[in-house]
Amino acid sequence: MNRPLEPGQWIGILGGGQLGRMLAMAAARLGFRVHIYEPGANPPAGEVAAELTTASYDDHAALKAFAESVDLVTYEFENVPAEALDLIEAQVPIRPNRRALAVSQDRITEKDFLRDIGLDTAPYAAVDPGQPDAPARLAQAMAETGVPAILKTRRLGYDGKGQARIMDIHGGQAALDAIGGAPSVLEGFVNFSREISVIAARGMDDRIACFEPGENVHKDGILHTTTVPAQISRETRERAFGIAGTILAALDYVGVLGVELFDTPEGLIVNEIAPRVHNSGHWTEAGAVIDQFEQHIRAVTGWPLVDPLRHSDVVMTNLIGDDLAEVPKIRAETGALLHLYGKAEARPGRKMGHVTRVTGPATDR
Ligand code: AMP
Repeated sequence: MNRPLEPGQWIGILGGGQLGRMLAMAAARLGFRVHIYEPGANPPAGEVAAELTTASYDDHAALKAFAESVDLVTYEFENVPAEALDLIEAQVPIRPNRRALAVSQDRITEKDFLRDIGLDTAPYAAVDPGQPDAPARLAQAMAETGVPAILKTRRLGYDGKGQARIMDIHGGQAALDAIGGAPSVLEGFVNFSREISVIAARGMDDRIACFEPGENVHKDGILHTTTVPAQISRETRERAFGIAGTILAALDYVGVLGVELFDTPEGLIVNEIAPRVHNSGHWTEAGAVIDQFEQHIRAVTGWPLVDPLRHSDVVMTNLIGDDLAEVPKIRAETGALLHLYGKAEARPGRKMGHVTRVTGPATDR
């Protein structure tokens, strides 16, 4: 299917969390119908989509019926099992493509890919905590990466989960214990001056369009704020765009991609890539003429990208767990755009919403 999708046609979205919800709203705005596939009950995206399937990723009958009901599948979640994707792809295209998913599902595959295309990453070495020789292997890995270092599971880590910091050469065993048996990667600690991210899109016509880089601050391993513009030099900004473009082209990518970067005195280092819309791009709703969700829907449906011009300076703040108690105060603010995900239960660490404060018209840094 290389013809663009027309309004009224169906987009399937794998994953029903807040990113799926925001994608579904953007798709509806362009006249598409959305079918959400999500294993968990009552997902946030279900409330704003035309159809919802609640079934696991190994339910072959449900996956087939889902694929048959839509014209195209995209995703808000990169850890969909390969077998489920095979079943879907036999019926209908998946965008972004499978390679983007495979590369970003595993931290070592991802870093190998980034190095192969000439980009810088933190020093890294594979460690398998499930093997009897793990302590010796970790000691060798520490010699390769230096300490401090961070042991991360290769797969399924997010928001700082599946990570253990090693502050000195005696900290290895505690980190192995903390990680459990999962295959892992040891990453040397990057002394960055700031963390930035680029939300970039590539269309079916190969055109690339990047949003302004945002500057990210994390709290307890979870994104806390994104400030735009980032306090970076013009050269760093151009380099960040160049890195995003190199990744998109190398993956023959179609859709929106998030690239997290460490800004260091030696240059930009790629931390990780996400083959989807990204939390650090939520500011685009309030600060740019098109948001990342609508840009993603345009890309995957074969519509031309819109120039992602930024009209305002903004600060996006995540509302996590009990931060929800601040909502009455926030909604009384005249310069604050509130976005709530409709989640019933506010657990610690759970993303409940975000607020983007417009701090003025767009300025250069
Ligand atoms: P990640 O899940 O890999 O994005 O890591 C979450 C956060 O931990 C990052 O945004 C950084 O703040 C920090 N972090 C991760 N890896 C490193 C590293 N190699 N050096 C320094 N800080 C890191």
